[in-house]
Amino acid sequence: MKLFRNAYLWLAGSFTTDMKAILVHNGVIESIMHEPVSSVPSYAQVIDLEGAYLYPGFIDTHTHSFEGGLYSLGVDLSNVSCIDEVLARLHEQYKNSDDIIFAWQFDEQSIREQRFPSMNELDSVVPDKPLVLRRIDGHSCVLNSYARKQLSGLDPVSEILRAQDNDIAVHHFHKMLKPDAILNAYNRAAEIAVKGGFTGIHTMVGDAMQSIGHYSLLSQHISSFKVTYTLYPQSFNLKAALDAGARRIGGCILADGSIGSHTAALFQPYYGTDNSGSLYHDDSFWRKFIGDAHKHNLQVGVHCIGDKAIKQINVVYQQLADSTGKDLRHQLIHCELTDDALVSDISKSGAVPVMQPNFDFLWGGDNGFYSKQLGVARSSNMNRLASLTRSGVKVCGSSDWYITPLDAVQSIRAAMQHHNVNERLSHAQAVDIYTRNAAWLSHEENSRGTISEGYNADFCILSSPIDNFVLKPSVKMVVKQGSTVYETD
Ligand SMILES: [Zn+2]
Ligand SMILES: [Zn+2]
Repeated sequence: MKLFRNAYLWLAGSFTTDMKAILVHNGVIESIMHEPVSSVPSYAQVIDLEGAYLYPGFIDTHTHSFEGGLYSLGVDLSNVSCIDEVLARLHEQYKNSDDIIFAWQFDEQSIREQRFPSMNELDSVVPDKPLVLRRIDGHSCVLNSYARKQLSGLDPVSEILRAQDNDIAVHHFHKMLKPDAILNAYNRAAEIAVKGGFTGIHTMVGDAMQSIGHYSLLSQHISSFKVTYTLYPQSFNLKAALDAGARRIGGCILADGSIGSHTAALFQPYYGTDNSGSLYHDDSFWRKFIGDAHKHNLQVGVHCIGDKAIKQINVVYQQLADSTGKDLRHQLIHCELTDDALVSDISKSGAVPVMQPNFDFLWGGDNGFYSKQLGVARSSNMNRLASLTRSGVKVCGSSDWYITPLDAVQSIRAAMQHHNVNERLSHAQAVDIYTRNAAWLSHEENSRGTISEGYNADFCILSSPIDNFVLKPSVKMVVKQGSTVYETD
């Protein structure tokens, strides 16, 4: 039994005005008590929170934790200045690692030579272990010759692998990892998650095609991590998902591409072009895939960014809602570009937008990336957190980590400080998308996501409230089912 005392508690959408205490038994909140607590059982362990602010543990509803964990154990090339520095870092890792070497965050534009290292250069520092060096956006990579020999059918001319060749190479080496290395990556991701204030993260497992990857391995170890993982077989392989006992399917399985590469599917062309992107599959494909999953009571998540793709998927969700009435909470992952009519459509279909407030933080604003790609007027229809919330939709918050940082405070602030003032969430709404709504998404609204008696003792304890924009709140402690999984000194 534990007593967490002397904290302001986040109850029903705001902080208590006086400090309270929480008695936890077997990982569950047994009671919420007034301070000073009069009768503490003598055997209870007392944890004095010294006037800190206790939120429910935050839940990130969409991450690629394997890649995030794996690469954070690898070589980070985000701040190198020249090829020699790249090679020195790779060689350092080579000396200390006996597995595949992954390097990431490489941006040839930001180094002196303005190019990728050549295969000869890579071979000179990593001669006899596979090496995969990925560009910052993940859409291209280079290999050393030891790695390249393991793959067939690649473009014989270019050392830089792009598009499909890039996917083939990356998935090949991800799959080659031994179980220990895979679990290491998930453990590392869990450490990063708790440091960022999360007690739960939804994570995509699989290659977004036919393989559900290491889903089974992960399921077997699911209770061993610092964070509660909610697993998605990220695949079109319904049979594999069902055989693995999954309750959902999908993730970043693609209805369209991305804004940056002009492959997100739009109703109107990209600014200054006659290109509108494209749908990756026709309507009948999605009717069949989502329909079959729905029949088997699997919750579905599909990556859709452009308005045309969002509409395509939402129509299928709407048809299923109309014809079956099942409450599966299907997801529109990203759900970036929506006009008013589409916001209204989503509110009727019961679909759940799984959105990334950090996308606006990074790319919003009149001079931002979105405005350049879509024009200023249309960019005001990006990431409509508040409009969707106002129309009754239960928006869920996420980082899409490793794309944006796994940082709860930063993410919630991004939702409150949206570039478009009409799309800003209140403190309570922004907290909800990372707590109550997120718990509801995984059908756990009766056990997680709120500070209430009978709920899991999942807490994120901060030095100050998130709406204090003068002091940046720091994560003091994270508690998962009553156990402290992170603590600052
Ligand atoms: Zn994703
Ligand atoms: Zn995606």
